[in-house]
Amino acid sequence: MIIYASFVEGHVFISDEAQHLLFEDICQRKHIEACGVLLGHSDSQGNWYVERVQPLQNIFDSPVYFEFAPEELLAVELEHAGEIVGVYHSHPTGFSVASATDRENMQRVNVEEQIPWVWLIVRGPFDMLWQEQRMPSAVIAYHHYEQWGLQEIPVQFVQSQA
Ligand SMILES: [Zn+2]
Repeated sequence: MIIYASFVEGHVFISDEAQHLLFEDICQRKHIEACGVLLGHSDSQGNWYVERVQPLQNIFDSPVYFEFAPEELLAVELEHAGEIVGVYHSHPTGFSVASATDRENMQRVNVEEQIPWVWLIVRGPFDMLWQEQRMPSAVIAYHHYEQWGLQEIPVQFVQSQA
């Protein structure tokens, strides 16, 4: 059971379409850290609504590290101005929490650069069972608040009305 600090009110809501795109991307490159940006909007209560995801290249092709190509990130930022609400990456090794590198990036972007992104990590291993079930519980979210430090954010999957 996960107990969330009571002062953190933000949730991240992930649409069907975003969930589908996210898991497709991870399955297609399951041996390296898949990564990309989360597109959607946020509200004044500090919630994030992820409507779509845009996969980006991991220029390191690594199972334990990811980095975007700066020009690719810039192109997406121009194309989707104001729509990027966060970043995702996968942990094919199954490492189930943010790594030291992840934490540094979260703090730098959220606090020093004042960019209010939410961070999703999808943990593996992406074996047959995972690929069949695509377990939502494999998705964890973080945000580094200036006042409260790094916090895990509750994730909710939203069913769209067909
Ligand atoms: Zn990571």
